Amino acid sequence: MSLLEVRNLKKYFPVGGGLFSRRSGEVKAVDGVNLAVEEGETMGLVGESGCGKSTLGRSILRLIEPTGGEVYFQGKNLLAMSQRELREMRRQMQIIFQDPYASLNPRMRVGEIIGEGLEIHKLAKGKKKRDRVMELLHQVGLREEHYDRYPHEFSGGQRQRIGIARALAVSPTFIVADEPVSSLDVSIQAQIINLLQELQEKMHLTYFFISHDLRVVEHISHRVAIMYLGKVVEIASSDKIYRDAKHPYTRALLSAVPIPDPERKKERIILEGDVPSPVNPPPGCAFHPRCPYREDICDKAEPKLEFGADSHGVSCHVFGPGKRV
Ligand code: SF4
Repeated sequence: MSLLEVRNLKKYFPVGGGLFSRRSGEVKAVDGVNLAVEEGETMGLVGESGCGKSTLGRSILRLIEPTGGEVYFQGKNLLAMSQRELREMRRQMQIIFQDPYASLNPRMRVGEIIGEGLEIHKLAKGKKKRDRVMELLHQVGLREEHYDRYPHEFSGGQRQRIGIARALAVSPTFIVADEPVSSLDVSIQAQIINLLQELQEKMHLTYFFISHDLRVVEHISHRVAIMYLGKVVEIASSDKIYRDAKHPYTRALLSAVPIPDPERKKERIILEGDVPSPVNPPPGCAFHPRCPYREDICDKAEPKLEFGADSHGVSCHVFGPGKRV
């Protein structure tokens, strides 16, 4: 059994419907996503801005209510749970946000921020809570004297360490990391990713790591899912995605990433046009207006995510399993 299994998950947002206007449609931010995350692995989720990846992460945790589908965590459907059951389950499912400053209360001291979850879940208070927070400060590379300081006294990288300590405080098993390094300098990004990897090994954590940047998820992800306009279009082991991507969208994303290895050949694929509106996605394959390989069928029928024998899933009429290599 997978630790997390997402079945046909959807999140649609209404468009229009203000005080004096009628609802005029809906944005299909997440539109029928299926995927599973195994215990102890990191699943990277990559796509351009606006493709629905953060909405997917939040829908999995039920931080926003999905429109439909199922999310099984440890075999239990989160969408069928009462608020009380969900609260208990949430202890095991935490989130690290993109902007560490915006997500930390500027009026709270670091010790209070990190220890808040311990109080909410009645795990520790008083000296026990303080000791646990001190231990967490050490684990994320901060020092005891940071306990009484405020978020504005820290650098971006340190603030993200505080965000990580807060997520770890309640001893979760699963963490959604939503663009956790994209607001940081490149040198600091590597430190935070290394820290997340160390913590994963020590604490046997499972990550759902969201990023718009394929380069960022390469070293931390065991598998990678590529998302385009609310759907997963390719999913495979990290090695297959980076060395043998099939979907033209994945290949276009990869072609924009600088690769230091001269052995790895690279074709540059320039995408035509902008990302289409998710309110009115193109018919058939939603990627067809930008795809240099489109064929007659591509604007007529929607391709399904199909898996080859090697668990490499591709949603494409032309490059899917058993089709063109
Ligand atoms: Fe391109 Fe057609 Fe494949 Fe879509 S289905 S990615 S348009 S080749």
